[in-house]
Amino acid sequence: MLHSSYLSAAPGLDDLLEIVVNRRLKKSWRVKVNFRTGERVLTIPEVLANPPEEVRESLIRWAMLPMTRKARRNAAFASNKKTLEETIRAYMESCGVCQERKSRFNPAAFENQARGVNYDLQMIFDTLNRTYFHGEMKSYIRWGHGASKTSYQTTRVDKGGNQFNLITISGVYDSPQVPEYAVFAIVYHEMLHIAIPPYMVNVRRVVHGKEFKAAEKKFPFYNQWITWERENMSRLIMNARRRIKRKSARKV
Ligand SMILES: [Zn+2]
Repeated sequence: MLHSSYLSAAPGLDDLLEIVVNRRLKKSWRVKVNFRTGERVLTIPEVLANPPEEVRESLIRWAMLPMTRKARRNAAFASNKKTLEETIRAYMESCGVCQERKSRFNPAAFENQARGVNYDLQMIFDTLNRTYFHGEMKSYIRWGHGASKTSYQTTRVDKGGNQFNLITISGVYDSPQVPEYAVFAIVYHEMLHIAIPPYMVNVRRVVHGKEFKAAEKKFPFYNQWITWERENMSRLIMNARRRIKRKSARKV
């Protein structure tokens, strides 16, 4: 079951990659290759069993990285591998706490995590909700940690067994260097994922389908946001990492 839903993000890999959840693993994952057949087995902890699309793709790409020594000496290989691992780890960290204390899970705890240093996500969510979703969308929203670069949307279950939506926005966006329209745009993008859930076409899971893209362009700053991201995002991520490194160095 897990195997097939996981690989729907990567058609054509079904014969090559098998994914196994190992409940004894906490925060690590590994891949084993049968060099004779080329088949690979990716073993993951439970926390990665049902991740958002970007994380799922990162895991699959990580598992399919080349294995020859020559390829692995390549600098591009190393940076690619590191980027994939960082995306996976950031996601695990962001759900680490609630994962361990599932039984006492209370969604109200997220209410305090919406207010950042520079931007209040709840205010932005409410404004977008009124403007584009008739005020009918229900979701919690929070900031990811300071250097997290992935934003995503998940569903969780509270202790009463009720499902609810949770949007997590990349912590890098909570900066005075990020224009307000960019924060609105990323929140709107994640809200659209709730309004227009992924669907299947044959064996492929469509996440950013035609209607998603059309809806996304209704946001007046869409083009500006894409251009801004392309020109600024990698620098902002680097700065955020440096800040965090400096902070932890000071603690020692
Ligand atoms: Zn998306």
